[in-house]
Amino acid sequence: MAARSRDFVAKPNPRNGRCRLISGNWKMNLNHLEAISLVQKLHYSLRESDYHFAEISVHPPFTALRSIQLLLETDRIPISLGAQNCYFEESGAYTGEISSSMLGKLGVKYVIVGHSERRDLFGESNEIVAKKVNAVLGLEMTPIVCVGESMSQREGAETESVIQAQVDAVVTAMRPELCEQIVFAYEPKWAIGSGVPAEPADAVFGANAIRSAVAKHHGEPVANSVRVQYGGSVNSANAKEFLDQAEIDGLLVGGASLTAEAFTTIIQA
Ligand code: PEP
Repeated sequence: MAARSRDFVAKPNPRNGRCRLISGNWKMNLNHLEAISLVQKLHYSLRESDYHFAEISVHPPFTALRSIQLLLETDRIPISLGAQNCYFEESGAYTGEISSSMLGKLGVKYVIVGHSERRDLFGESNEIVAKKVNAVLGLEMTPIVCVGESMSQREGAETESVIQAQVDAVVTAMRPELCEQIVFAYEPKWAIGSGVPAEPADAVFGANAIRSAVAKHHGEPVANSVRVQYGGSVNSANAKEFLDQAEIDGLLVGGASLTAEAFTTIIQA
């Protein structure tokens, strides 16, 4: 079992100075009791060196955030708490929505914004995503901004322009010191939940497209500070080949983060 300290931080990757982040997006799975059990098992199976290799975040449904916050704090488990979404307004008549300040009060550190399921199933435009990113940064949390193309866009050689438009919408009017805090996740839509991951070269292409869009607005140093995860059908067999790429700073994992065994093998890849 790994050391119990919240000060247990990931070491920067010597190849680029950026700290890796491996995140588990649980989507609409696990009630709060199941969530507690998963985090306990996960912490039990991780080694100290795993926490040095990468920061690890878990993103339960809203209903489990408070339970996981208490577990992480009480047992001093050095896993970061994440959310899957938030609304951009602070408070008001927005039935069913959760604000970034509500998440901040729960000790949430990372908020996934613009996941393709939210873009496609819930109509989130680039503009809405940009507002959410600002709401998260405004509360001193870190957005994990998901970008990526559909299969038809890929087939039409639009991957780069789609990524650029998605990144542009977020970073254009932003101060550089805020921009460099963003974590992007390159998640080709066709790879999410399909069992067909991108090739590592595709992931590197996506990461480079993200950084060149950032560089266009804020210059190379800012672009080289932003972290870029890869997400889409990551599993224990393919995680290493993504993590081996200097351009890739971690993983956003859906299905394979739902069991401690699978998520641990990915982190230990
Ligand atoms: C995701 O939901 O962000 C994701 C990458 O899912 P999966 O790993 O299941 O493809």
